[in-house]
Amino acid sequence: MINIVLFGKPGAGKGTQAEFLKTKYNLTHLSTGDIFRYNIKENTELGKLAKTFMDKGDLVPDAVTIQMLESECNNNPDSSGFLFDGFPRTISQAEALDAFLESKNDRITATVALEAEDEILVKRLLERGKTSGRPDDQDEEKIRNRYQEYNEKTAPLMDYYKAQNKFHSVNGIGSINEITERLSEVINNLK
Ligand code: ADP
Repeated sequence: MINIVLFGKPGAGKGTQAEFLKTKYNLTHLSTGDIFRYNIKENTELGKLAKTFMDKGDLVPDAVTIQMLESECNNNPDSSGFLFDGFPRTISQAEALDAFLESKNDRITATVALEAEDEILVKRLLERGKTSGRPDDQDEEKIRNRYQEYNEKTAPLMDYYKAQNKFHSVNGIGSINEITERLSEVINNLK
């Protein structure tokens, strides 16, 4: 079983790459952003709650996010491995994920980060906002807030995974294909 955390700032291309990697390595792709957006579309209680945070570009509270993620994992008991996309985003989420996997005699195999500069990413998100319909992609102030959330709460995870010798990063600028190749090289070399 391999469990990969795909890591990167908003707009780094996690979702795009996850689509290729999940097929290539037969992984169950869990994107917390996608799951929240699905709940918003279906107007569930979880969706209504998540929307109040997401629309501002704030993170959804840990307790809600962790519970949702764990139940998604439990709904896929036969999975041969998970590709976590957009989770964990805080140290508490990472600790909860480690504890959850350990309770199943499992663990994170590696974290792979897609690296790119903020200015390039902000442009990509504004471009995506023209077609994605996502309120959090359409307003530069909300986008900047997502970067602030990232810098404050998510960036410390790099040290968290480095301390476990599980952190890898690849250059996230290039063609989609080139980046899939870079990520694959890391995954293929995991022990
Ligand atoms: P992006 O990486 O482009 O910001 P996502 O689809 O991963 O897009 O996330 C969109 C929003 O969903 C985040 O800004 C946040 O409000 C919420 N969200 C997603 N994952 C998490 C998480 N692990 N913890 C808290 N909030 C989350």
